[in-house]
Amino acid sequence: MQFENSLAFARRADSEDALSGFRAEFYVPEINGKPSIYLTGNSLGLLPRAAEKAIQTELEDWKNLGVEGHFHGQNPWFHYHKFLTENAANIVGAKPIEVVVMNQLSSNLHFLFVSFYRPNQQRYKIIMEAGAFPSDMYLVESQVKFHGLDPKEAIIEVAPRPGEHALRHEDIIQTIETHKNELALVFFSGVQYYTGQVFNIKSIAAKAHEVGALAGFDLAHAVGNIDLQLHEWQVDFAAWCSYKYLNSGPGSVGGAFVHEKYANDTDLPRFAGWWGHNENERFKMLKGFIPEPGAAGWQVSNAPVLSMSVHKASLEIFAKAGMQRIIKKGQQLNAYLEYIVLAACQNNKFLDLNIITPAAPERGCQLSILTGENGKALFDHLTNHGVIADWRNPNVIRMAPVGLYNTFEDLYKLGQILSDF
Ligand SMILES: *Cc1c(COP(=O)(O)O)cnc(C)c1O
Repeated sequence: MQFENSLAFARRADSEDALSGFRAEFYVPEINGKPSIYLTGNSLGLLPRAAEKAIQTELEDWKNLGVEGHFHGQNPWFHYHKFLTENAANIVGAKPIEVVVMNQLSSNLHFLFVSFYRPNQQRYKIIMEAGAFPSDMYLVESQVKFHGLDPKEAIIEVAPRPGEHALRHEDIIQTIETHKNELALVFFSGVQYYTGQVFNIKSIAAKAHEVGALAGFDLAHAVGNIDLQLHEWQVDFAAWCSYKYLNSGPGSVGGAFVHEKYANDTDLPRFAGWWGHNENERFKMLKGFIPEPGAAGWQVSNAPVLSMSVHKASLEIFAKAGMQRIIKKGQQLNAYLEYIVLAACQNNKFLDLNIITPAAPERGCQLSILTGENGKALFDHLTNHGVIADWRNPNVIRMAPVGLYNTFEDLYKLGQILSDF
């Protein structure tokens, strides 16, 4: 696509876009009576219109059936998670047996660490990215301490080289090689939340396995954004949230992946609960935990149906739109966003912006822009002109045009607002 910095171009690109009809399936927040330019789908995705009906259906069943909704509701709550499994599995490139929708992201990672971070005398180190999302830092540190280890010795961080913002893939691989004899686990994000860098999950997992370690991933900013083939890439475990690119509402239910190779491994330690127990015996109330095969065996508590109903409606939109088309559109919007930002910098010498997200293929739809001295003032200018972007300390503006509801016109208008700063 040959980009142009014009409204006519943007409108033409939107009209020729196969996904353009999907924007109408979402509520776009308004500012001063006009649709905002919403660029924070990486933080909280927009409300799908279908979610209202979906949640209403469950409220009606609760209203009319009470506890009977567990078995006689329109979507019986007893195995509600199963209504979501296939669509969720398709988004992450997994088999249905490898995926379960449950809990929330950080909680799921803790449960998965119980099974897949099992340090011993020889192997106890975890390699992760420096500057990871705080929840990941806290959870890894607390897991290490839980095993009686010293985080300073057990946690190895891979950092960008001096003067650089993104990690070099070769440095990740080299770090794994350096610590290969003591390494228990490589734990990375799929997309770095601050820089928007896409990590090479396949290659990282392969290297971890080569040295006898496991590989797990936090897919918060990857799911619904980039191509994931967790099964084929032999990822051991992964987890994600549903409220960012998956548009399922604040704090909504998360998802987890456990590779098929562990589906029937009942020897793995795990923290159990009744919802992970063999479904046919769940209500027999007997002693002796027998896990459901696959990821479902990691469930602990019964399904949060109200938040799952929203997630279910949202996943159905992904199934209709098709993940590959969403990825492609996100990449196109991202490329246009970069073009527009660079064009605005040419027009307006007050803009002091530096894109720190590495070039494709190391990026999805997010663009992270390092700002100069007047960064906060620029951010306020954007907000005052109807742009909802996201400020990350110390000085980065993140923008993520998403394939399902953002438009080329959004980005053209953003460029005008930047030029007016
Ligand atoms: C958003 C995000 C989280 C949030 O965790 P919750 O348990 O859903 O609150 C965790 N990790 C990363 C990398 C994130 O981007």
